[in-house]
Amino acid sequence: MKPMAQAVYWNPKAETMSRDALAALQLQRLQAAVKAAWDGNPFLHQRWNQVGVKPGDIQALDDLRLLPFLTKEDFRLGYPMHMLGVPPADLREMHMSSGSTGSPVAMLYTAADLDQWAECMARCYRMAGLQVGEAIQITPSFGLFNGGFGFYHGARKAGQFIIPTGSGNTPRQIKMINDFQVRGLMGVVSYGIRVLEVLQETGGAIPSLKVGIFGAETFSDKLREKIENGLGIETFDIYGMTETGGVGTGGMDCPAHVGLHQWEDQYIIEILDPITGKPVADGVFGELVYTSLTRQAVPIFRYRTSDLTRVASRQTCACGRTGLRLDRITGRVDDMLIVKGVNFYPKQVEQALMEIPGVLPNYQIVVEEVDGVRDVRINVEAQAGVTGFIIEKHLKEKLGFSPKGDVFAPGQLARQEGKAKRVFYKDADGSLK
Ligand SMILES: [Zn+2]
Repeated sequence: MKPMAQAVYWNPKAETMSRDALAALQLQRLQAAVKAAWDGNPFLHQRWNQVGVKPGDIQALDDLRLLPFLTKEDFRLGYPMHMLGVPPADLREMHMSSGSTGSPVAMLYTAADLDQWAECMARCYRMAGLQVGEAIQITPSFGLFNGGFGFYHGARKAGQFIIPTGSGNTPRQIKMINDFQVRGLMGVVSYGIRVLEVLQETGGAIPSLKVGIFGAETFSDKLREKIENGLGIETFDIYGMTETGGVGTGGMDCPAHVGLHQWEDQYIIEILDPITGKPVADGVFGELVYTSLTRQAVPIFRYRTSDLTRVASRQTCACGRTGLRLDRITGRVDDMLIVKGVNFYPKQVEQALMEIPGVLPNYQIVVEEVDGVRDVRINVEAQAGVTGFIIEKHLKEKLGFSPKGDVFAPGQLARQEGKAKRVFYKDADGSLK
C-alpha cells in the first residue's frame, strides 16, 4: 500500500498566497472590519469619532496608521463586555487572563471567532508535521486560560486524536504518552523541562513523542536545545495571547525554524518604536502591534502587545509559506531590567546561563536593593562542579555587568505550576515576590 502523502499545509491557498494578493486581501478585509466596527461597535465608534477618523478614510493599508492604538489598559477598563461589537446573544465562549496586576482581560468569541481561532491552530498542527489521526496530549489546564481550549479547538478542526490531560501529575502524563502513542505534546516550555526531569529521575522513556509545541513563555535557543536533546523531539514556538484571540493566533515557527510565521490573511502586523509609536525598519527590534481582520466579538485595531520582536523576513520561506516571519519574542517592553546602567532582558540571562556546561534549566533572577543600589542575584540549579564564580564570570562577559551567582543542587529551587516565573523582587524583609 502506498503511504499517504504528508500534509504540510492546512490551508495552502491562504498560507502560500503571493504578497501582492495578500496585500489586496488585507486592504479589502481591513476596510470591511473598520466599517463593521464603526456600525456595530460603540466602543470603537466613540474612540474613532474622538480623533476624527471615519471608515472612508481607509483607502490604503498605510491608512491603518490613522487609527488610534488599543492597549491592555483598554481591555482592563473594557472588562467584562464594554468592547463587544456583536449582540450578546451571538457569544459562544470566553477566555480570560489575569495579568501581573490582577486586573482581568477577557476575550469573547462568536462561533465564527472560535472557527477563526481553530483555523490558526490547525495551520500550526500541520506546520509542525502532525497528521490527521495522530495523537496529541494537551497539558495546559482546561479553564479560563486560553491554552487548553485553544489547542483543543484547533485539534478538533485538524483531526488530531486528542488526549486532554490538562495540567499536573507528570508521571501519569508520561504513562498516557506511552499508552496512547502520543506524537505531539502541547504546553508551556517549562512543562517540557518538568517531563524531562521526571524521566531522568525515573529512567523512563517516551519513544513515540516526536513534536513539542510550546507557548506562553519566551525561551532561549539554548534552553530549547536542552529540551529537544533530552526528550528526543523537535520543538515549535507557538505564539498568541488572550487579546489577539488566544494561542496560535500569533503564529508559530515552521520546520525551517527561522522566525514565527504570521497569519497575515487574518492579522496586520506592525513593529513600532515603543516610545514614538512610529514604524521601525525590518530587522530593528520594536513593539509588536496587531490588527485583526476577521474577528467579530472583540476586533482589535492596532493593539499594542508590549512584546518585543523584529521582522525576521518577508521572503518566501523554505517551507513555501509567504506570511512574514517575526523573530521569536525577546521580552516585554515592561520586562526590561535596568541594573547599574545596563539594560537587559531576562531571556538574555537565560541564554547566557544555558551556555555554561552543567547548568540546569531552572533559575531565578532576583532584583534586590543593596545600600540603595539596585542589584541582581542569579540563583541557578547546576550539577556539581559549577560554582558561583563561573556563573558570574560568564554573565559578565555576555551581559556586560556582574550579577552575583548562587548555585543550587538540582531540585532545590521552587517550581510553579504552569507558566514559570523567572524574575523576582526582593522585599526589605527578605521575601521574594
Ligand atoms: Zn517556513
